[in-house]
Amino acid sequence: DKDPRIHGIQSKIRVVPNFPKPGIMFQDITTLLLDPKAFKDTVDLFVERYKGKNISVVAGIEARGFIFGTPIALEIGAKFVPLRKPNKLPGKVISEEYELEYGRDCLEMHLGAVEPGERALVVDDLIATGGTLCAAMKLLERAGAEVVECACVIELPDLKVCI
Ligand code: AMP
Repeated sequence: DKDPRIHGIQSKIRVVPNFPKPGIMFQDITTLLLDPKAFKDTVDLFVERYKGKNISVVAGIEARGFIFGTPIALEIGAKFVPLRKPNKLPGKVISEEYELEYGRDCLEMHLGAVEPGERALVVDDLIATGGTLCAAMKLLERAGAEVVECACVIELPDLKVCI
């Protein structure tokens, strides 16, 4: 049975057809952020799930994973590690390339941000094919962390997920 807060959260996510390309149903979370109650409910649901699970790292995926990941990290008492698009982080990085529907993309993480053996949670706004989350998990695992779970606000139905 669904938590009663989920309906309120769902109702605040705007679906924009044909953005940014024809055929894409864009799930716009900016309308969720405009509603402090629904935004807080979203963060609270994750905090309730992950508090006390000995997670010391929340890794957020640029850019919308930062919005949800940072308050979750603060509430569960974990560090926040941004996983960024190429050439944004100033220090030494490890990189992981991944396939997009058209072309390739890449995520980077600062070397030394995560210690071997740390328990990590990966956060993004949405999972579609799962390619982005797979790349994020690989980065953390290469750094020796254990990925406990990936948390997304939205799961697109009817798409094959690679994880
Ligand atoms: P994927 O790697 O296929 O799971 O795609 C997930 C990433 O692409 C996430 O970072 C999402 O923010 C973004 N994304 C993919 N499809 C959509 C969509 N329909 N609406 C909003 N964001 C999307």
